[in-house]
Amino acid sequence: MQMSYLAVFLILLLPISSAASTLVENKFKECFVTKLYQNSESLDKIIFIKSSSQYPQVLEALEQNPRWVNSSRKPILILTPFHESEIQAGIRCSKELGLQLRVRSGGHDYEGLSYLSKAPFVMVDLINLRSIEINLADETAWVQAGASLGELYYKISKESKVHGFPAGTCPSVGIGGHISGGGVGTMLRKHGLAADHVVDAYLIDADGKIHDRESMGEDVFWAIRGGSATSFGVILAWKIRLVRVSPIVTVFNVERTLEEGANNLIHKWQYIAPELHEDLFIRIVAQNSGDKSKTFQATFTSLFLGGIERLIPVMNESFSELGLQAKDCTEMSWIQSVLLFGGYNKDDPLELLLNRTTTFKSSFKAKSDFVRDPIPKSGLEGVWKMLLEEETLAMLIMEPYGGRMNEISESETPFPHRKGNLYIIQYLVKWEENSMEASKRHLHWAKMIYRYMTPYVSKSPRAAYFNYKDLDLGKNKHHNTSYSKASVWGKKYFKGNFRRLIQIKTKFDPQNFFRNEQSIPPLNS
Ligand SMILES: Cc1cc2nc3c(=O)[nH]c(=O)nc-3n(C[C@H](O)[C@H](O)[C@H](O)COP(=O)(O)OP(=O)(O)OC[C@H]3O[C@@H](n4cnc5c(N)ncnc54)[C@H](O)[C@@H]3O)c2cc1C
Repeated sequence: MQMSYLAVFLILLLPISSAASTLVENKFKECFVTKLYQNSESLDKIIFIKSSSQYPQVLEALEQNPRWVNSSRKPILILTPFHESEIQAGIRCSKELGLQLRVRSGGHDYEGLSYLSKAPFVMVDLINLRSIEINLADETAWVQAGASLGELYYKISKESKVHGFPAGTCPSVGIGGHISGGGVGTMLRKHGLAADHVVDAYLIDADGKIHDRESMGEDVFWAIRGGSATSFGVILAWKIRLVRVSPIVTVFNVERTLEEGANNLIHKWQYIAPELHEDLFIRIVAQNSGDKSKTFQATFTSLFLGGIERLIPVMNESFSELGLQAKDCTEMSWIQSVLLFGGYNKDDPLELLLNRTTTFKSSFKAKSDFVRDPIPKSGLEGVWKMLLEEETLAMLIMEPYGGRMNEISESETPFPHRKGNLYIIQYLVKWEENSMEASKRHLHWAKMIYRYMTPYVSKSPRAAYFNYKDLDLGKNKHHNTSYSKASVWGKKYFKGNFRRLIQIKTKFDPQNFFRNEQSIPPLNS
């Protein structure tokens, strides 16, 4: 019996037998050593099997959502490569043994798809591949996929006070997953998405072959910048273009309750925020208090790419209702604003950006929507009512579009949510209890608020942001998923670009080796 059939046979027939899994582990190791270069690290630094005492620690270190801590859908073994040849060997051996492969960069996937699977799988954890090389002469950087956003921001700040990168606000998010789904941050109105700034990449395909932009071709290079790189291969590194940032930026936080007129302000914000000067980004976090006190608060948080003197006149002219005063604003460097948006204080040591776990780690569920027409005041009132009905911390994060986002066409990258969107909403509910019953209750709340919002958000399709992954939108059930079935969720994330993604997948990974519950399926499925 060939090795691959033997492994699948054993796993399917004896899924919980430790003898079966030991056999597969051994087979994997045997295969792995035959495919390695001589100078590789010793195996016990690269491969962690379930019985290894380090396995739980390696697995859980980057699990950012404790919702699945007790899940049985864990990897058969974890690979932590130090060298690209170890990923190549991992791909080839997983394939030979009929195992799936999942790759983890920062572990922030909203549905845990980088470290959970019902099918037997190998997890490739890129924690040891985190080098960042900045080249100020041509204002680019090569960033290995296991690095975090915080590590990138930190490294840039050590080399330049006038450069930055337009990506997400949470420092522990991984470069690998983030850029391959888009990458939205406080500079998106000025510079667009993280994925809009990729100029080259190294990608390993399903045969274990390494490609750069030229050898993967422009189609695949297009697909991996926002269209789920995990459907096409393993990203080893991105080459990104840095952006210039002003030496002084200004941040403000203005909090308002409903009694202080938050509803009117939020209503007005919808008309103003997407039209403001592109240097000005004002987001709203509208939340309950997370306890029984049933209080509501909206926080208007802003990053302005300039000083207070220029900001105040802009605000007085366009959003005087907020009553912003100079005393509400703080000037700082761009990297200090990164610390603030990342949940730290602006004067904290920059080394905090190197922390690999999220600042406020608790179980969560999130969903997303795009708003194209302002929501009436009565509609907004209903949302706040629902926030106050939830017994745990629940919030809406509303981030304005416009500016640079209007200038990029829907098809330039797979991320199609550009002109015509006023803002994106993320609905987020977080909880500390560790029971199925609690999870069910909070997941139900997320579904209810999503249903309530139907008349107010984008339609046909009701669009969603791929990086805020939501399996409620639909999922691939089997190895083979038809185009029409996958379109149910695929068109929500990628709109008209979904068809092109499928065509590229069909050519580049026809056997559908790289797959998960929301990966791009090939056309022949
Ligand atoms: C606390 C928190 C804050 C966030 N803040 C923001 C934000 O400000 N802006 C924003 O846009 N998004 C944000 N996100 C969402 C985030 O961008 C996505 O969850 C992103 O996919 C995470 O990437 P990761 O590498 O950390 O996650 P992972 O779980 O490691 O990976 C996510 C997906 O990408 C795949 N993947 C990872 N690495 C590779 C690789 N090298 N090659 C191929 N596929 C790979 C994985 O297999 C998985 O399918 C946030 C998420 C969390 C949990």
